[in-house]
Amino acid sequence: MFDPNRSVLQHIDLPILNKHLVQLFIKRDDLIDPFVSGNKWRKLKYNLEMAQRSGRIGILTFGGPYSNHLVATAAASQEAGLCSVGIVRGGELNAQSNKTLRLCAALGMHLIFVSRKKYALRNERYYWEELLLEHPDHLIIPEGGANYYGIIGCQEILNETPNDFDSVYVAQGTTTTSIGILFSVAQKTSLHVVPVLKGYDSIGEMRALLNYSGIEPSLYEELLEKVLVCDEYHFGGYGKYSVELLDAMEEFFRQTTIPLDPIYTGKALYALMDRIRKGHHDGQRILFIHTGGIQGGESIAQKESRTFF
Ligand SMILES: *Cc1c(COP(=O)(O)O)cnc(C)c1O
Repeated sequence: MFDPNRSVLQHIDLPILNKHLVQLFIKRDDLIDPFVSGNKWRKLKYNLEMAQRSGRIGILTFGGPYSNHLVATAAASQEAGLCSVGIVRGGELNAQSNKTLRLCAALGMHLIFVSRKKYALRNERYYWEELLLEHPDHLIIPEGGANYYGIIGCQEILNETPNDFDSVYVAQGTTTTSIGILFSVAQKTSLHVVPVLKGYDSIGEMRALLNYSGIEPSLYEELLEKVLVCDEYHFGGYGKYSVELLDAMEEFFRQTTIPLDPIYTGKALYALMDRIRKGHHDGQRILFIHTGGIQGGESIAQKESRTFF
């Protein structure tokens, strides 16, 4: 359906990297598709395959009003010949409320707006049963594509690289992508995760998703020791950012022509550069996973606050 060959491995040349003898590569998952934001495609791949193989007519999933996952699900379902239903947080909203929701609707997604109280039930089995009565023969995928199939889709990212890095960096929301990467990194590699939520218990959340996915703790407890949490780069929390962050993204774009988004990849790259500057990675070979995040060619903040590309 989508072509992972478009996700090239790009070598980055910058004075700061030379100064610290760092070899930096970026895995450009953002180039896979303009709508199906990089890692969202990875997470949907096997979910869609299972839906098709089991004869489902559609996908039902959950998201906030600016969710990349909803847009990705709408686009990927349409491409796969499946219908899609999006349960959206915010009973006061409608399909015209913002660009993300308009895009979902234009891609054929049936949007259902629910109160925050109702949305809080999104992982409850009894709510799923209720939804399936109204939408029979749909496959339900958790918010953010956070399930077993999402994890195995993300395991494929590193297989498309030499997988010989000292450190790998990735932004973290639901932790699905970082878990897939953790399951595929080389022995010597440390995985640096950058949670974009404030006060997020990264390791605890990773354990919870692993557990929910039915993966045996003896298979992952040792692996979790390879994870280094960079939890000082949330810039105030999910969706929050500062002029300093936007300036850093703008400068990086000027130097490399690689666009970043202020919600995920901007924060993760900021963390990486800050830690390189502080001397944590001297002499290393590093991989940064560009997870995408730029919907239909532009990011949310670019649209709704200030233009920085
Ligand atoms: C959703 C998203 C993430 C978070 O990935 P998780 O698998 O939920 O941890 C990271 N980067 C971008 C660009 C995203 O859209």
